[in-house]
Amino acid sequence: MILKLNSVTKDYIWGGTRLRDEFGKIGGTRLAESWELSVHPDGMSTISGGEYDGMTLAAFIEKFPESTGKNSLGSVPILIKLIDAKDNLSVQVHPDNDYARKYEGDNGKTETWYIVDCDENASIIYGFKDKLTKEEFRAAIADNTLLDKVNVIPVNKGDVFLIRAGTLHAIGKGCLIAEIQQSSNVTYRVYDYDRRDDAGNPRELHIEKALDSAYRNPTEIPVKQRDNADFQQASELVSCEYFTVFREDISGSGEIRRNDNSFTHILIIEGRGEVISDSDIHAAEKGESFFVTAGTEWHIKGNCSIIYTVV
Ligand code: ZN
Repeated sequence: MILKLNSVTKDYIWGGTRLRDEFGKIGGTRLAESWELSVHPDGMSTISGGEYDGMTLAAFIEKFPESTGKNSLGSVPILIKLIDAKDNLSVQVHPDNDYARKYEGDNGKTETWYIVDCDENASIIYGFKDKLTKEEFRAAIADNTLLDKVNVIPVNKGDVFLIRAGTLHAIGKGCLIAEIQQSSNVTYRVYDYDRRDDAGNPRELHIEKALDSAYRNPTEIPVKQRDNADFQQASELVSCEYFTVFREDISGSGEIRRNDNSFTHILIIEGRGEVISDSDIHAAEKGESFFVTAGTEWHIKGNCSIIYTVV
């Protein structure tokens, strides 16, 4: 079975208008994130159309636990978002599973970014240049020199980054990103550019928890430059213990695929087409998401680029 999903949008202060104008998302003047696949209580996907119209994906999976496949039986351990950073996101870190489960009652967060589009001089922050002690890290936050100590990496459309839990990071302004992450909503902010929210207040920082959670060693930057790659064949963008992400460009008819051990999430990032199984056919536009139950044969017709993810 293939379910079309409704997304949930978030209007964080750094968001822009591209998700509304180019990706068909519904929201006000500022639209920072669209949660494309989520069973997280902070914003749950619902099913659009068909027999289960309006049901949350979480309720559907509770009713049909085998629909996720045996790799994550009865659960969707990932969360997939589109992110439009009109402005810089805060410099932040996410805890690992042990810390998050102990102190937050949530999962840790390892995430991956696929740069769907970006401005010419866009960049991200990824990890430290040099090893810092906890006290040096604390001092750099206090005396406003943290940005001198981090790696600033220029990005291009098509780049892929894996950001493991504990890696200090920030999405820079001008990036439009597909983020595939563990299902978690725990973020420790350490620097927010002295910004104010709509009420004129600074957003909360979480410095002690960030100091506990962050790796202070320099990390190798696992970037892949994929802009010129040929995606006529499905190509793996990134794989880790939590998810594997592929990109494929379809012109005409795509290959028939089936995964017996995992559900598949399909996100249309460019163009339009139809997502097809034996029992379903859905028109698919740029920015739309589909949940394919484990064991379902699916393929796409049309002219489009997709990202698809399995666990
Ligand atoms: Zn993050």
